[in-house]
Amino acid sequence: MYGGIAPAEVRAAKAVSQAAGVTEHRIFRMPDLREASDMPGSDFGELPPTYIPVRNSIFYAVAASIAEETGSWTLIGGHNRNDSEVFEDTRTEFFELTQKALRAGSSRLRAARLELVRPLSKLRKHEVIRLAVELGVPLGQTWSCHRDGPVHCGGCAGCLGRKEAFERAGVSDEVSADFSGIGRKTS
Ligand SMILES: [Zn+2]
Repeated sequence: MYGGIAPAEVRAAKAVSQAAGVTEHRIFRMPDLREASDMPGSDFGELPPTYIPVRNSIFYAVAASIAEETGSWTLIGGHNRNDSEVFEDTRTEFFELTQKALRAGSSRLRAARLELVRPLSKLRKHEVIRLAVELGVPLGQTWSCHRDGPVHCGGCAGCLGRKEAFERAGVSDEVSADFSGIGRKTS
């Protein structure tokens, strides 16, 4: 959980993990970790304002630390094909080398053959939605908005991406959204 994350996203993650029967939903706080939009003067080229420098190196190191503590030897990332077209740290090369580095740095992780897996890596967002419907995922409890609030704002990059993906999937979205937000400055 980093500095700018919407509390609604954390609540949604908790609700969805409960629905999936997750026994422990642990929140690891990283309040000083910021998104590109919170770093005026820095230049990240074409990357979106939600970019966090070196994000997945940090997140997977934390996840591996918890894995070593709890004896959980598989780390599962939800990155999809759209992500890997934008973020270098969601691509195969990054995960192969990170898995190797994490094993090299811990005899317990090495002995357990810690594995980083990405079951959604070949699917685009709309294909992930279709799969979620097939699996009975409570999509109405998920959160895509970059802002906080009782409903999705309808205007930020997260909301617009969600709307487009649901439409492409041919699935109606049961989350409430305030589409009066469209045209507002996106984040
Ligand atoms: Zn939004």
